[in-house]
Amino acid sequence: MAPETIKVETDTVLPMRADVVIIGGGIAGVSTLLVLAEKGVSVALVEKGRIAGEQSSRNWGFCRTQGRDQAEVPLALEALRQWDRMNERVGGDVAFTRAGTCYLCETPKQVAAYEAWLEKARQWQVQSRILSPDEVDQVLPGSSRRWAGALYTHNDGRAEPQRAVPLMVQAARRLGATVIEQCAARGVDMQAGRVAGVVTEHGTIACDSVVLAGGAWSRLFAGNMGVDFPQLKVLGSVMRTSSISGPPELAVAGPDFAFRKRADGGYTVARRNKYEAFVVPDSFRLFGQFLPAMIATRQEYTIRLFGRFREEAKLPRRWKLDEATPFEAIRVLDPKPNPAIVEESRRNMVRDFPAFASARIEQSWGGLIDSTPDTVPVIAPVEAIPGFFLMSGFSGHGFGIGPGAGRLMAELIMGAAPCVDPAPFRFERFGTASAKKAV
Ligand SMILES: Cc1cc2nc3c(=O)[nH]c(=O)nc-3n(C[C@H](O)[C@H](O)[C@H](O)COP(=O)(O)OP(=O)(O)OC[C@H]3O[C@@H](n4cnc5c(N)ncnc54)[C@H](O)[C@@H]3O)c2cc1C
Repeated sequence: MAPETIKVETDTVLPMRADVVIIGGGIAGVSTLLVLAEKGVSVALVEKGRIAGEQSSRNWGFCRTQGRDQAEVPLALEALRQWDRMNERVGGDVAFTRAGTCYLCETPKQVAAYEAWLEKARQWQVQSRILSPDEVDQVLPGSSRRWAGALYTHNDGRAEPQRAVPLMVQAARRLGATVIEQCAARGVDMQAGRVAGVVTEHGTIACDSVVLAGGAWSRLFAGNMGVDFPQLKVLGSVMRTSSISGPPELAVAGPDFAFRKRADGGYTVARRNKYEAFVVPDSFRLFGQFLPAMIATRQEYTIRLFGRFREEAKLPRRWKLDEATPFEAIRVLDPKPNPAIVEESRRNMVRDFPAFASARIEQSWGGLIDSTPDTVPVIAPVEAIPGFFLMSGFSGHGFGIGPGAGRLMAELIMGAAPCVDPAPFRFERFGTASAKKAV
């Protein structure tokens, strides 16, 4: 069953024009929307299903700097600063708190790997540190095990995915932004070699700039424009427990479980390092580009030969803008969770933290995580198409970084000085061939 987001009002009438149109109502698109609306830019967002219906309401809710790709650390720090002010900005409670994050280690080898990460990340003044076995017991009491150590960041945070994005939409609308649900974008209208509008199932919105923040759908959408965005998906299975007192406030990732306290008093729980990678037609098309990442993260996923191939093979890859598209056919990507993985995550967590023994599984859900070959998102203009910006491929960690990414995207669109170096997020890093046939 899909997690329920809080309901907020959206618009019903498509504007004739906006300076910027955003495609996709997840954290990426909505964070950009909010910043642009705050700056007084005329902006509209179209969402094929419902706001935060896909990854942005299905994630664990970790907002962390620790363990990130070094390229992302400055953006993650900026995102935390944005989260700090989020309640004030949206006039509601996104349940953000800097309760800390802890990655537990079973072996000295794992501790050494985090030490190596920390050594590099110190240049960004991160507050992370390595905990000794005794320090783990102090910071995280209640475990039945003796841990070899941990990576701990006291000022990392967590927020409530089922609240945050809808509240940001509400705030952006108050500032004059337009947000339309059940409105799939079919493509981009090009005039004189540059973006002139977004064609949706309900009509065209004229605009100067368009941001594609389509999550797991960005590759398909961009592909119809001749832009080859390398992106694959893996399935994560998640559950939430009944309300329980006793377990910690910290967001914790062990070797084979992860948990985070929820605003409703329960916990969001998942089986860490057990994603399911379904073989689909894109697995063959993108095999070479993803091979290094597949080898490096081999322990983190299970390959499934069956399950999604037919569904994805049936999706058209090319369409005309006056035809119905796959985005209208599948309003909300709502994959089934794997019950065996959900149960395993519960069992592993109770094994190591017995205080969870009385927590009931209230709900479980699946989420398809979109990833790039280097697990770093694109937050950038696509140089071959003036006026076209891509913001996707957050590779399983876009919720926490989302508000920072939104600020960066808005600055790039407005031509303002960027809050962090945008170079690591360029689209063209995947090779110029990616966009050579554009539109
Ligand atoms: C199980 C799981 C656990 C995760 N845990 C964490 C975590 O703890 N911390 C963290 O930081 N991140 C986490 N993530 C990752 C995070 O959720 C994503 O990186 C982030 O939500 C991506 O946001 P997005 O806006 O790019 O995509 P999405 O939230 O998927 O939004 C994209 C939206 O675009 C819409 N769309 C697509 N095509 C069109 C179109 N043509 N027209 C109109 N609308 C369109 C879709 O309907 C969708 O609503 C997790 C993800 C999952 C699934």
